Amino acid sequence: MKLHIKDKFNQELPADPSRSNTRRQVFEACFSYVTPRVPSNPKLLHVSAETANLLGLTESDWNSEAFLSIFSGSSTLKDSAPYAMCYGGHQFGNWAGQLGDGRAINLAEVENEGQSWALQLKGAGETPYSRRADGLAVLRSSIREHLCSEAMYHLGVPTTRSLSLLLSGDQVLRDVMYDGNAAYEKGAVVCRVAPSFIRFGNFQIFTSRGDIVNLRKLTDFTIKHFFPSIQTSGKEAYIEFYQQVAKRTLDMIVHWQRVGFVHGVMNTDNMSILGLTIDYGPYGWLEGYDPTWTPNTTDRQNRRYRFGQQAGVAAWNLLQLANALYPLVEEAEPFTDVLQQFQLDYRSAYLNMMGQKLGLTATSESYQDLVSSLEKNLQLTETDMTIFFRNLGDFKTDVQKPGETQWFELIKDAFYEVEEVAGAIYDKWQVWFDNYHQLLEKEQNSDADRRASMNQVNPKYVLRNYMAQLAIDAANQGDYTIIEELYELLKHPYAEQSTLGKWFAKRPEWARHKVGCSMLSCSS
Ligand code: AMP
Ligand code: MG
Repeated sequence: MKLHIKDKFNQELPADPSRSNTRRQVFEACFSYVTPRVPSNPKLLHVSAETANLLGLTESDWNSEAFLSIFSGSSTLKDSAPYAMCYGGHQFGNWAGQLGDGRAINLAEVENEGQSWALQLKGAGETPYSRRADGLAVLRSSIREHLCSEAMYHLGVPTTRSLSLLLSGDQVLRDVMYDGNAAYEKGAVVCRVAPSFIRFGNFQIFTSRGDIVNLRKLTDFTIKHFFPSIQTSGKEAYIEFYQQVAKRTLDMIVHWQRVGFVHGVMNTDNMSILGLTIDYGPYGWLEGYDPTWTPNTTDRQNRRYRFGQQAGVAAWNLLQLANALYPLVEEAEPFTDVLQQFQLDYRSAYLNMMGQKLGLTATSESYQDLVSSLEKNLQLTETDMTIFFRNLGDFKTDVQKPGETQWFELIKDAFYEVEEVAGAIYDKWQVWFDNYHQLLEKEQNSDADRRASMNQVNPKYVLRNYMAQLAIDAANQGDYTIIEELYELLKHPYAEQSTLGKWFAKRPEWARHKVGCSMLSCSS
């Protein structure tokens, strides 16, 4: 197995001088060197061939002893030195001080085909940032992270990738619902892959400590390696950097809204500076369309991280990043300008995206009302977001005239209680479809063309919460076939894949209130 290691983060940025692996506050350093924990009996469960190929690895590589050894944490790469990053963050709206990679260990940065990738093990043991926790991860959350990272990539959502999923062979104690019922679970290690794992919190920690020297070093480093289009320097460069981060963050959130993804823990330590979806914890997928839904039971009271609020939270997080970068610019206005623009841009990007989901190419103002009334209608009775939009692609303008009811046949599978779609609810849908039909008649493209373009933005298959849970339940019994089946299915989320149509179905009733399906905590 040959990886072309070319480390930047640990070569160019200041290291913690202490090599001891004791939990502590780390000052004036971007990271601490650590060694992964040696697992007792590692076993490879799954590899993403696409992500392996990105790194230049082939099938014989990932079936090798060396692969198992490196990606389980049993041994370290010869030409690199593993480390944990120091960062802080706002958790649920409150400044939490130093957090850092408590259970993530960066192995190296590698180059392949002109691209650079950082490799990071999650669940490979404690670091100086582990605080009161063990640095480990359990199989259930590792399956969720591995499958979802890859599924998101294939959906076209900016995301970190996942190379491998391994069992450590060790038992890990977790209290899943924080109710005093701790139990042992299988330990696992995932290897995440991204150009960089730098987060908003990496900048925040320096500013919070008044360490502007290192804030500048980190910012200059980030711009140099990850924002090469920025050709200015000094204040101008920092403002441009902030603009670009805002733009990437916006793009990511619009994609989340498009596919119905709810992150669940949008703390500033979980916000990638590259605008990638990062830290797959208690995330979930909207089934019934409900802007107030959050999968995270830890957030049940305030629903801070609910579906409909993700853009608002992103803006709040960007404001915290502005505060972190402020000492480099010493002017508030450029930041507030970007934040104001973010709100405007989000509104229009969101409308454009919804227009695409509806197959409309007209200017977004013309269908603003249609989108608003759709958002209301989808909540009249529990309506599956994925099935609704996918089936809508089959709407025909030539056979359906206002007043007809072909629409009902088309979308009835999206309703969880189809009998509820009667009376006033039925009438509201009728009105909506009449308006939709009228707008479609003004479009130039044929029904077939519209269907084809809608099917490229409305996925048929997403990693519904219960699907991941089925893979987890089987894996806990030693059966890993569902992991592979879902992985293959989700490589082509927009394709019909008719033989796998069983996954294009509403959440079954048994999953409605099941832990892991609709209720997830931060315990992982
Ligand atoms: P998260 O909510 O997963 O983003 O984690 C927030 C912070 O807690 C980060 O600093 C993590 O590294 C740390 N953390 C989460 N779980 C563990 C764990 N099992 N062991 C050590 N640190 C952890
Ligand atoms: Mg995190």
